[in-house]
Amino acid sequence: MSDNVILIRFGELYLKGKNKDYFENMLKNHITDKLRGIECNVFFGRGRYVVKDYDASVEYNIISRLKHVFGIHSISTARRCGYDLDEIADLAIQMTPNSGTFRVTSHRSYKKYPLNSLQINMQLGERILQAKPNLQVDLHTPSYTINVDVRENGDVYLYDSTIKCAGGMPYGTGGKGLLLLSGGIDSPVAGYMMAKRGMSIAALHFHSYPYTSEAAKQKAIDLAKILGEYCPSIKLACISLTEIQEAIHNNCKPNYMITLVRRFMMRIAQKIAGKFGCGCLINGESLGQVASQTLESITVTNAVVDIPVFRPCIGMDKDEIIDIAENIGTFKKSIEPYEDCCTVFLPEFPLIKPTIDKVEEQEARINDYNELINRAIAGLEIIQLT
Ligand code: ATP
Ligand code: MG
Repeated sequence: MSDNVILIRFGELYLKGKNKDYFENMLKNHITDKLRGIECNVFFGRGRYVVKDYDASVEYNIISRLKHVFGIHSISTARRCGYDLDEIADLAIQMTPNSGTFRVTSHRSYKKYPLNSLQINMQLGERILQAKPNLQVDLHTPSYTINVDVRENGDVYLYDSTIKCAGGMPYGTGGKGLLLLSGGIDSPVAGYMMAKRGMSIAALHFHSYPYTSEAAKQKAIDLAKILGEYCPSIKLACISLTEIQEAIHNNCKPNYMITLVRRFMMRIAQKIAGKFGCGCLINGESLGQVASQTLESITVTNAVVDIPVFRPCIGMDKDEIIDIAENIGTFKKSIEPYEDCCTVFLPEFPLIKPTIDKVEEQEARINDYNELINRAIAGLEIIQLT
């Protein structure tokens, strides 16, 4: 009897020390949740998990879903059989191509198996050669490698390829952060990067309706939904900045617009983070990308908050950010041409090197700015996405 299985590998890094069970349980729960609705069983063994008892027609679906689970580093589709060497050899012969070079690489976690790894390699190699005389053994640069994994539970798995997965740490093991999610390319990537390290994510989007359209807000919702594939139960908060932007526009010098808007965004974000139990903010800034992302600008916007602000894209080039956006599936959505609230009342010459003194001077021209912030927060709209 043989059948198909999917082997799941996870990093060793966090499996040491006291937190081992915590990390593993989180990962198990995420895998179970992700595969809900697909008929299959997951065997959670020591050091490796195995998906079994599924129909071949759903294999692709299972793999696609597992690719979205942080903490899984790679998977392999494998054939399963018992300990009997004839059975193993039959499967190995079925799997190997008819010509070219090959090697057998076996691994024995069941140490009582009567043959050691080297003996398994040699015996299987010989039988494969007998069945397929056009093949040649090449231990160093084979064109085909068949891996044989002899497990403790009576199973032997044979596989020939490995699919790289998301890696990182199980979602939810790294605290909780509030992502400032625009409709652009960078912020979804920033959220993904932090989620990959185990941080659970809530998102906050600012709009300037009616200056920005419903479609612009929908784009942020759609992006948050794509992130939801990786970030279970992500929710999106939406807040209108319209009144604040009008107040800045009516009272302050035009070239301070972006800097002042960003300071309001950060203040509001910190308050929303408090409401959602988030210990930090996350944004998609990349050093020098635009005027509001110089060291001076970041200093001035960062000055209004006192929780950590993570900027995982800060040292990345745009093309590196785009590569990730394409990989995680947000890029196509991000480049849809809807306006962002930052483009409302956009000055011709935004400040590149603002100073705190001057910015505070401009801000002081808005006399009821705490009231403005409170009103914006009172209009908070929460969208549950998954
Ligand atoms: P992105 O591609 O993420 O939109 P960007 O290059 O357009 O980034 P900015 O517009 O300067 O850069 O925004 C910098 C960061 O500020 C964004 O990455 C995002 O985290 C946050 N941000 C900008 N606009 C919004 C918004 N409308 N709602 C929430 N956060 C925003
Ligand atoms: Mg933007």
